[in-house]
Amino acid sequence: MSRPRPLDPIPSIKAKWSIVIVAAVAVTALMSQIGLHLGWPVWIRPVIAGALALLAVQFLAHGMTYPLRQMATSAKAMARGDYSRTVQTTTNDEVGQLANAFNGMAAELADSDRQQKEFIANASHELRTPVAALQSTLENLVDGVGTPDRATLGRMLAQSEHLGRLVNQLLDLNRLEAGADRLGTHELDVGDLLHDLVGELRLSHPVAMFDVKAAMGLRIQGDKNQLERVFTNVIGNALRFSPIGCPVTIVASRQNGSVRISVKDQGPGIPENERGKVFERFWQADGSAPTGGGGAGLGLAISKRIVDQHHGEITIGDNQPSGACVVISLPANPVASDLPIDEWQASGSPKGDALAS
Ligand code: ADP
Repeated sequence: MSRPRPLDPIPSIKAKWSIVIVAAVAVTALMSQIGLHLGWPVWIRPVIAGALALLAVQFLAHGMTYPLRQMATSAKAMARGDYSRTVQTTTNDEVGQLANAFNGMAAELADSDRQQKEFIANASHELRTPVAALQSTLENLVDGVGTPDRATLGRMLAQSEHLGRLVNQLLDLNRLEAGADRLGTHELDVGDLLHDLVGELRLSHPVAMFDVKAAMGLRIQGDKNQLERVFTNVIGNALRFSPIGCPVTIVASRQNGSVRISVKDQGPGIPENERGKVFERFWQADGSAPTGGGGAGLGLAISKRIVDQHHGEITIGDNQPSGACVVISLPANPVASDLPIDEWQASGSPKGDALAS
């Protein structure tokens, strides 16, 4: 059983040390007086007074530095990669607060260490798949088992493109998480941006249908390339999951100083309990990518980091009545936000644009 720590309830280390010093001085003075009164020899009085003062200090200050010693041991263990040692504290003074903060930091470091290991394991797994496929095809060609015909070379090209995309996504994610990319700050018209993107997507997806409604004058400040990347990924996902013949609906409007862009499809949707997970790195629903062409579960993780850097928000809305709805909110350009609401509405009656082919 641990010895009692009488000063634990005192919430200040300064007050504790003051009490310890006063108690030591009081015990020394008291014992000197008692010794004098009892006629103890001169040399023995300070020895007994000092010994009792030390005992009083031991009793009162017991455990005051224990968390500090534990922190030193835990820090050494953390340097070796062991984050499991927590610091025990029963006091709420500055040392106790430091111990609690230390425990919080250790938990965060343990979590980030776990995430990093998971990330490396996932990334290695994702990279190994196309590398293994390429290697086995090349081995067959070298052994003369396969023929380097157009179809085989096409498959190899697709695998190497997939590999290249993956490496680029990993590098981008790394740069975004490290905050190493400086964002461009262009003034952008959201309607123009969306119409241009949809125009390009129509070329690569000739049978896809889009229904774009963007209010006029929706201006934001941001990095054009990065934001195009976010919309391309979100609209690309919607196209992948939408049944053929069902349009992807894109609506951009102004809402409380923000520009809100929703991308809605009529696919299987994203279950409520998985809506937070889709922004995690490498997360993919079981059996996703029904129409093929899926990535490695990095697209929305990258999109979220880009939107965060623009001080915006990306969320999954309700599946109503079916399908997934991804909502991106970005701060409206202050100049446009300063427009009186009537003026904005007058200049920006929603423009509907159904693009289908
Ligand atoms: P990926 O490149 O694999 O699609 P994303 O990060 O873009 O990666 O998406 C992660 C996962 O979220 C997808 O694999 C899929 O399971 C789910 N998801 C994303 N968009 C949709 C959507 N529109 N409908 C249904 N599921 C989606």
